[in-house]
Amino acid sequence: MTIGVLALQGAFIEHEGSLDKLGIENFEVRKKSDILKPHDGLIIPGGESTVMCRLLNDLDLLDPIREEIKTGMPVFGTCAGLILLAERIENEEEPGINTMHIEAKRNAYGRQLGSFETHGNFGSEGEVPMVFIRAPYITKASENVEVLAKVDGKIVAAREGNELVTAFHPELTDDLTVHKYFVDMIKKVKLKKTA
Ligand code: GLN
Repeated sequence: MTIGVLALQGAFIEHEGSLDKLGIENFEVRKKSDILKPHDGLIIPGGESTVMCRLLNDLDLLDPIREEIKTGMPVFGTCAGLILLAERIENEEEPGINTMHIEAKRNAYGRQLGSFETHGNFGSEGEVPMVFIRAPYITKASENVEVLAKVDGKIVAAREGNELVTAFHPELTDDLTVHKYFVDMIKKVKLKKTA
């Protein structure tokens, strides 16, 4: 299994570290030819969603990534990655990848004091550490979206088919639960393909 990590901006190296610890092959996606390399999944890291979106556009990566997600390729977006995958952003006209049927609120915890750490349950996988950095949360989720985690009543992790998002940063902790969950998602897609 090989996972591409979008490496235009933000916390991509940390995701590579988590994948390395799990023994999962990974490579950086920096330009259009990279996305053509064989891969079984893609991680869109945290960073600054507006900057990342502009770079995706400029590098001609936005459409190919949107297409591969639409055709079932597993994707995991953290923080800014969640914002890019959301179909809508509250009070903003922000174009992005927009494939997941959720609405998100950017900088939902305030800009300055928006960074904090807590613990919470992630799906049925048990408790995980959750690091939030100027994070969004999910304000609306369509009925096909499975809510995987909430903090103070706000949705902070969710899945819809081949798309997984977290408002927090598992790659900034030693806990590999969420990355393992993503790897399992990919394994299931691969099984379906070969069935
Ligand atoms: N606040 C950033 C944004 O709106 C996201 C922050 C993050 O990815 N840590 O893009």
